[in-house]
Amino acid sequence: MLVVAAHPDDEVLGFGETVAVLAAAGIRPRLVSVTDGEAFHPHSRSPVARRLAAVRARELRQALSALGTDVQSVPLGIPDGQVRREEGELTQRLDDLVRECDLCVAPFHRDLHPDHEAVGRSALSAGTAWGVPVWEYPVWAWHWAVPGDPRLLWHRAARIPLPSSAVTRKHEALACFRSQTRPLGDAPGDEPILPPAELDHFRRDFEVIWR
Ligand SMILES: [Zn+2]
Repeated sequence: MLVVAAHPDDEVLGFGETVAVLAAAGIRPRLVSVTDGEAFHPHSRSPVARRLAAVRARELRQALSALGTDVQSVPLGIPDGQVRREEGELTQRLDDLVRECDLCVAPFHRDLHPDHEAVGRSALSAGTAWGVPVWEYPVWAWHWAVPGDPRLLWHRAARIPLPSSAVTRKHEALACFRSQTRPLGDAPGDEPILPPAELDHFRRDFEVIWR
């Protein structure tokens, strides 16, 4: 299994509980971070904002450990916020990874975030080329979608019910993303990307994918 993230936290937000269940069963998926997530907090003057790539890589390592897996995510180093521009190269790189897998899990290609959508399209393209199924997980769709939203792919939606042990591990993993869940400082631009109301979407005892 290949699990692809646009930024180093997407895979935990959208698929972390399932990764925890897989880890408990001894299954080690391959993880890929397309960008380092360095462009979040573009208006912050906090020193953390200037070394966000390193901070987020460390937070992801801690989060994956909290999920109970010893797998490390491989960074692809495509510039954060510019995946669409590099989509051809990304599709080639995912092509090489997807061909060796039985299942690819990637961000929703209509998530209304340009990086998520570009990564989702690349994964779908690579999956189609090699006959490998691609499951898509929503991240920002949880923020903007409304019940019955026609922009979601209801006919492909599947709900994965998850045990309390996995939910607990995901809560611990989410707490590792301090650069995203807490303000970087007191100034404008330091606000958290994932405030508590946003995190609540990802703290439930199920995950949803489009398959
Ligand atoms: Zn993201």
